[in-house]
Parts: sequence; structure tokens; C-alpha cells
Amino acid sequence: MTAISRALASDIDVRAEVRIDTMARKDRKWYLTDTFSRHYGPFDQVIVTAPPAQARDLFTNSGLMNLASALDGAVPAVQPCWAVAVHFESAPGAEFEGMRPHNGVLSWLANNSSKPGREDHGQWWVLHATSQWSAEHVETHADQVIDVMLDAFREITGFDSMPDETVPHRWLYARSDGDDHPGCLWFPAEGIGLAGDWLSGGRVEGAFDSASELVRTMNQ
Ligand SMILES: Cc1cc2nc3c(=O)[nH]c(=O)nc-3n(C[C@H](O)[C@H](O)[C@H](O)COP(=O)(O)OP(=O)(O)OC[C@H]3O[C@@H](n4cnc5c(N)ncnc54)[C@H](O)[C@@H]3O)c2cc1C
Repeated sequence: MTAISRALASDIDVRAEVRIDTMARKDRKWYLTDTFSRHYGPFDQVIVTAPPAQARDLFTNSGLMNLASALDGAVPAVQPCWAVAVHFESAPGAEFEGMRPHNGVLSWLANNSSKPGREDHGQWWVLHATSQWSAEHVETHADQVIDVMLDAFREITGFDSMPDETVPHRWLYARSDGDDHPGCLWFPAEGIGLAGDWLSGGRVEGAFDSASELVRTMNQ
């Protein structure tokens, strides 16, 4: 999933593992401070591509209350997603490579090993839980989540072997159920823009379209 953004970013200065905590404006320039009190800037403009809850925290910490409240409607619309990757030594023999089962627990299952260029030994399957189930189990221990999601997988495929590897991941800000998709948000007086999939219908294409739309808007 990161191959496209890594390629696009190959000739720009990207600082990873940096969480911006506050932003402050002086003489029409922005200065950013991270959670280790390291400073960045000055910058003419700032583009925030964090999910709305994290963007709102950043604006609140920075005393930018009008920007923070502009995100109040978007924050609750973003739902979590429990995802589990499971590896089977012998292929489950499912008659499909991907499925949207909507069986109350799982919203998506995919045979990752069927994707082009994979030469996996055995088969990797990716299971996503529904937004509702994920929200109800957001604090449930990962081991228990794996058990329930695997049971649901077995029920659908009839395959009851145990996987030899499981990789759970809880995405707190996974999917936006909101139906308001302005494309991007641009606050010209402050010189702050927001882009992200949640502003443009979700998924990677949404993130790309949102960023393109923001750049167009900023250049007008
Ligand atoms: C389990 C799962 C599977 C998916 N599978 C697919 C798929 O197969 N195909 C597809 O098209 N889409 C898929 N998606 C959706 C896709 O991942 C998203 O649409 C895409 O990542 C959104 O990109 P984004 O740049 O808007 O936000 P994100 O990728 O969420 O990036 C936001 C970034 O902001 C960072 N951040 C937050 N706060 C701060 C801060 N204060 N300072 C600095 N950085 C901060 C976060 O750490 C994060 O890296 C999947 C999503 C999930 C959860």
C-alpha cells in the first residue's frame, strides 16, 4: 500500500515518525512543534492530511478553535476497522479470491496471495471486520478479535485448519461513513489546507483526488 506514496515522495524531504503537536503563526509564517519539542519552519502554508479527529486535536492544541470546530461533523463519521492477516500453510481452497460477506462480523475477505507478483508459500488472507463490529470491539484484546474473525471466516469458507501466523491491526480511523465530500478544505486567511480520503469518498483514489483538488484550490 505504501509503494505509490514512497515513489511519489522519493525526491522530497519527508520526516517520518514525527507527530506534530502544535502550530503557531508569527509574521504570517507557520512554526510547527512536534511531541518531542522539536521545531520546524517557518512555512508559508500548512497542509494537514491527518484524519479529522487527529487534525481537530492539532488545531485545538494550537488554539485554532474555528478550524477545530469545522471538523466537528466529520470526526464521528470516521469508523474503526479491525483487520487481521492470516497465513495458512495449505490453501483454504475457497471458490473466490475476494468477498463482501456482511455476516455481522466480516465486511471483506481477500486472498492476498492471489494478487499479481506474489509468490507466497501457502496463502495469506486479509479479513476486515464491519465498521459496526469494529466500533463495538474497539477495546477488545487482539487475541479475542482474531478468534471471532477466524470463526466467521471458517463459517463462510468451511475451512477449519488453524493458521500458522496471524497479524492483527486495529485501525482507529479507517473509513468515513459521512456523505459530505467537499474534496478538500482550504482556509485562505490562515493558509491552512486539509486533504485526505475522508474528504473525497474514501480509499486511496479519494486521498489522491483530495490532494489534487487542494493544490488546485490553493493555486487559484
Ligand atoms: C485495513 C485497511 C485496508 C485498506 N485497503 C485498501 C485497499 O485495498 N485499497 C484502497 O484503495 N484503500 C484501502 N484502504 C484505505 C486507504 O488506506 C486510505 O484511503 C488511505 O490510506 C487514506 O490516505 P490519507 O493520506 O487520506 O490518510 P492516512 O493514510 O490515514 O494518512 C494520515 C497520516 O497522518 C498521520 N498523522 C495523524 N496525525 C498526525 C500529526 N499530528 N502529525 C503528523 N502526522 C499525523 C497519520 O499517522 C497517518 O500516517 C484501506 C484502509 C484500511 C484501514
